[in-house]
Amino acid sequence: MNGQAATLGLSSENRRALLAKIGFLATDRNEWGQDGKYYINGLSTSLPFNVQMELVHSIPGLEQAVLLRPAYAVEYDFAPPTQMHPSLESRKVENLFLAGQINGTSGYEEAAAQGLIAGVNAALKARGAPPLIIQRHEAYIGVLIDDLVTKGTTEPYRMFTSRAEHRLLFNHGSAELRLFEHTKNYKLLSDSRLNRITTKQNQVAHWEQYLENTKSSGGSWADAVRRDKAAAALPAEFQTESKEVREEVLYRVTYRGYLERERRQIEKLKDVEKIKVPSSLDYLAIPGLRKESALKLHQLRPENLGQASRISGVNPADISILMVLIAAGLRDKKS
Ligand SMILES: Cc1cc2nc3c(=O)[nH]c(=O)nc-3n(C[C@H](O)[C@H](O)[C@H](O)COP(=O)(O)OP(=O)(O)OC[C@H]3O[C@@H](n4cnc5c(N)ncnc54)[C@H](O)[C@@H]3O)c2cc1C
Repeated sequence: MNGQAATLGLSSENRRALLAKIGFLATDRNEWGQDGKYYINGLSTSLPFNVQMELVHSIPGLEQAVLLRPAYAVEYDFAPPTQMHPSLESRKVENLFLAGQINGTSGYEEAAAQGLIAGVNAALKARGAPPLIIQRHEAYIGVLIDDLVTKGTTEPYRMFTSRAEHRLLFNHGSAELRLFEHTKNYKLLSDSRLNRITTKQNQVAHWEQYLENTKSSGGSWADAVRRDKAAAALPAEFQTESKEVREEVLYRVTYRGYLERERRQIEKLKDVEKIKVPSSLDYLAIPGLRKESALKLHQLRPENLGQASRISGVNPADISILMVLIAAGLRDKKS
């Protein structure tokens, strides 16, 4: 769906004042220069043009707006993403891997990210190797795929940063460091790029330690950064490091407390992610499980307890029942 382009039929000063008042982004320079045309961001619609005109004119300040182009929508069919494994292989048709808009997403990056994972996993499946699953706490790709397969989507899914509970760890400077093990294990990058990342990793680790542990005036260098990054005079050799190394080190040092808290939370959650849910489990026959939960679990068939806990409508009491059941199953197997 797209927004509308409109001109307001007012002097530029009044136009800006009005748009600012009603919360639209109104700057001197808009997409078309200073000619009074505005892209009405956030007003998505595909209603008939005459209805769109009424809609725009009903907004205070836009009573006299002239609509230059109608908004429009593109419709497409999609395969319910809850019918996929986290590897992006269809649960319904073995060996069929799906990526992009067909999974209910919209966007270039969303499509590319899934394409990469689906492609890698198709190749791994052909070799009989286990799939590459990027976890929610590792990267936006993990959040995207986990959301799709556990929650599904009722509108074109976009990867908003706000969907990631651990987004503080997902700064772009750390992406190649965070995903290094995967890229190395699955040979997704050239050796020269992997070597460059290893060097960056070592430099970042060295400077992080150095700034944390070396005294400067009134505490460590790192304390000075946390007090006032702009004013902190850092060691001369640090200043000669590449921009990407300096930025990553300063990010880690500045937000150290918050980043550590995130990591602690992830450690706690990891345990439930590791508990596999047997694929043969008959949710509809589990005593004590609420009907809504049983139906959702039956439909979505989570692969581990972490995934089960993120399904909307499945509450902590239901997860406790599953835990007991799985533990009992494990005990039976051992005895
Ligand atoms: C007008 C418009 C503007 C957009 N603007 C943006 C934007 O600014 N930013 C953004 O992030 N996203 C934007 N999007 C969304 C984005 O383009 C799509 O979500 C994304 O390109 C989808 O990629 P995909 O690979 O899943 O599908 P597609 O790019 O649609 O690729 C599917 C391919 O499959 C081919 N195909 C279909 N059927 C068959 C068949 N039977 N056999 C063989 N091949 C077949 C098609 O020809 C096509 O090449 C926009 C979309 C539209 C329509």
